[in-house]
Amino acid sequence: MNTEPATRSIPLVDLRAQQAEINDEVTQGLAEVFGNTSFIGGHQVADFERAYADFLGARHCLGASNGTDALELALRAAGIEAGDEVILPANTFIATAEAVCRIGAVPVLVDVDPEYLLIDPAAVADAVTERTRAIMPVHLYGQSAFIETLEPVAAAHDLAIIEDAAQAQGARRHGRAAGTIGLAAGTSFYPGKNLGAAGDAGAVITNDPALAERARILGAHGSAAKYEHDVVGFNARMDTVQAVVLNAKLTRLAGWNAQRRLAAERYAELLHKLPGVVVPRSAPGNEDVWHLYVIRVPERDRVLKTLNEAGIGAGIHYPYPLHLTKAFASLGRPAGSFPVSELAATRILSLPLYPHITAEIQEHVVNELAKALG
Ligand SMILES: *Cc1c(COP(=O)(O)O)cnc(C)c1O
Repeated sequence: MNTEPATRSIPLVDLRAQQAEINDEVTQGLAEVFGNTSFIGGHQVADFERAYADFLGARHCLGASNGTDALELALRAAGIEAGDEVILPANTFIATAEAVCRIGAVPVLVDVDPEYLLIDPAAVADAVTERTRAIMPVHLYGQSAFIETLEPVAAAHDLAIIEDAAQAQGARRHGRAAGTIGLAAGTSFYPGKNLGAAGDAGAVITNDPALAERARILGAHGSAAKYEHDVVGFNARMDTVQAVVLNAKLTRLAGWNAQRRLAAERYAELLHKLPGVVVPRSAPGNEDVWHLYVIRVPERDRVLKTLNEAGIGAGIHYPYPLHLTKAFASLGRPAGSFPVSELAATRILSLPLYPHITAEIQEHVVNELAKALG
């Protein structure tokens, strides 16, 4: 009897094999947390903060409730205030800009470069005004932004560089780890990220001890000691339960990133025969961690629909540049403002990619893509 389903389903991200690898460790760790009910502030959080700082080669890491909160903490601890302008790319996940808005600062969007779709340093230089206080490069899709080109712009205008490192855990540029180059960084451990928790979590990373301390106080109700509230902060702590999962996964992250790299190479080999497909490449100097595998195709919407109907969980990251979302219509940047981001948004297509994807699955994905392209 044929028990094969009519269409085989391949998700964009499959975390089950990751979970199987860490299951025993996590079960044991959770038993400890529940046994001594150390749900907030358990030693596992501090253990993770030390381990993640070491993994990146940074001096300080502060566990946080999620990536958006981590970015907000980084901005506030860097002294960014209401009314300040913060430059960031139009092509990013909305959280980068949300963090800016939540502190009353003003997101100033710029376009990206046409090849890697990363924040365009020349556009950043053009967007600087008297009110600019920070630049937020986003290390998109697992690639480091061209931060060494932003550093002189930041230095010339006394701007803070606050990295959005949510998609680049372990990525390096000229040997420097994403998230350790600017004044501070925020990262996200949303389950689908390269390092993912069992729910929401994030972290602030910095080499500046005073900034790290300010961020810690802001994220703990503005208090360094219980009930001594020195500033109005909020609650942005990482749960102990999340730290247990992250500690287990962190020891495997370098290996999983290497598996992603191999999978990306395999896709490049399989895809180069398909006419009209633009295959992503690593920028010179970059060691990417392939958070997403983003190709560009003609007739993207039709191709995506056909792939989805064939059970392939392809996606779009992201369908709208920020200025074309309803949420940011108030920025007053009409269509045509950022042509590279806008054109990319009509052609980009993310193929399934995760550490344990097999060659056989990738071949199936590419076969279906070839059919969809017609
Ligand atoms: C995931 C992500 C975030 C925010 O993360 P949350 O943990 O969901 O708050 C921020 N920026 C980028 C680029 C992301 O991909």
